[in-house]
Amino acid sequence: MYYFLIIKNITNLSGKQSEFAYICRKSLFVVKMKKKPIVALIYDFDGTLSPGNMQEFGFIQAIGKTPEEFWKISDGIARGQDASNVLSYMKLMLDEASKSGIKLRRSDFRKFGAHIRLFEGVKEWFRIVNEYGEAHGVKIEHYINSSGLKEIIEGSPIAGAFKHIFACTFLYDENGEAEWPGIAVDYTAKTQFIFKINKGIFSARDNKKVNESVAEDKKRIPFQQMIYFGDGETDIPSMKIVNMFGGNSVAVYNPKFPEKKAFAQKLLRQGRVNFITPAVYSKESRTFRVVCAIIDKIKADWELKQLARYR
Ligand SMILES: [Mg+2]
Repeated sequence: MYYFLIIKNITNLSGKQSEFAYICRKSLFVVKMKKKPIVALIYDFDGTLSPGNMQEFGFIQAIGKTPEEFWKISDGIARGQDASNVLSYMKLMLDEASKSGIKLRRSDFRKFGAHIRLFEGVKEWFRIVNEYGEAHGVKIEHYINSSGLKEIIEGSPIAGAFKHIFACTFLYDENGEAEWPGIAVDYTAKTQFIFKINKGIFSARDNKKVNESVAEDKKRIPFQQMIYFGDGETDIPSMKIVNMFGGNSVAVYNPKFPEKKAFAQKLLRQGRVNFITPAVYSKESRTFRVVCAIIDKIKADWELKQLARYR
């Protein structure tokens, strides 16, 4: 900003564009060209990166139930009292852990997270996408936007790949044990986090900055530079928002279940997503091809925008 002011004054003083100002402008243009666009890859967790619900990889077994039993009771609470599905499962976790004498400290959740199963290629995915971004002049950032538990995801082997994890959390008592829901993420909360990523806000609690008016060119990651991955109903509003504002949404499906593919196809037909792909994340996968092509387009659009600014 200051450089532009100086250049403008020099131009005014001399009455014509001086050689110095011309060089400065050229240099600034080069500096500006060197800046990289950020591409945000935003993932739902359960069913998108992992083939099950995260509670099914240790916690449910620890309380002596089957996943079917646990989710049936949880759905019963929500349906019976017309309550939030998310708050119902969080309460059930606390109640069942207490009945079974299981402590739920952050460290305990992380231990459950260590056993999470992931879809094929997920462990290498973040590295190969980051390398592609690096080679093609974009900065890649990965985010989680999940109705599952942040503490469990933090224990998973891929936790370090994420710039930020937006997910449900508990409040902890003076002994460090979970006692009450702190953040419950349903489908509308998921959309809120898309706007936070857009504006560069990394607090789930924040309700001020996210609603402040910010000029489009000042937003940290424009929607056009977002790729949203999801598999279920709670992802639909986020997919639609990203898609509507010029970004890309991808519905992934577990290739072992035809009904999951049918659901993804429905989202594509309804215009909620731009692409569908099996939840396979290897370098040879369709998912990688789709993402590389989107990154190429984002980079080209960004570069054309920079070139159009040159006067
Ligand atoms: Mg899901």
